[in-house]
Amino acid sequence: MKSKIIEKEKPVVAEQRVFKTEEEWKKILTPEQYHILREKGTERPYTGKYYKTNDKGVYTCAACDAELFTSDMKFDSDCGWPSFDRALEGGKIKYQIDRAYGWERTEIMCANCGSHLGHVFDDGPTVTGKRYCVNSVSLNFYREKKGEAKK
Ligand SMILES: [Zn+2]
Repeated sequence: MKSKIIEKEKPVVAEQRVFKTEEEWKKILTPEQYHILREKGTERPYTGKYYKTNDKGVYTCAACDAELFTSDMKFDSDCGWPSFDRALEGGKIKYQIDRAYGWERTEIMCANCGSHLGHVFDDGPTVTGKRYCVNSVSLNFYREKKGEAKK
């Protein structure tokens, strides 16, 4: 009973299950993926492969393939990156304050492997008021019906 109450008050963050050294990540990720996922880089807006994607399906972490978002959570944002108004439940996302450029933003990371996804802002246009702004490079997309990754 007690733990249920705590769960309601504090969102649970799933435990990190994937631990790799930076050398190991370098071997499995492309240089671009490594830069964004592990060095917290940002792809140039309007260049990513998913910012205009409207197909139904599931978005997973490009580093460990944990499910993070579905197409139902995605909305058209003119910021140039894939944007979601919420994430899948179960603590899939880890949040951390980022003061890198002299102002405060909330960085979002994959809870399963600690890789950088993007940032979340409080200016979302939907009922949640949130805008999860994610690099396309940080995501894989699986179309609903065929279950194939869109490359
Ligand atoms: Zn991950």
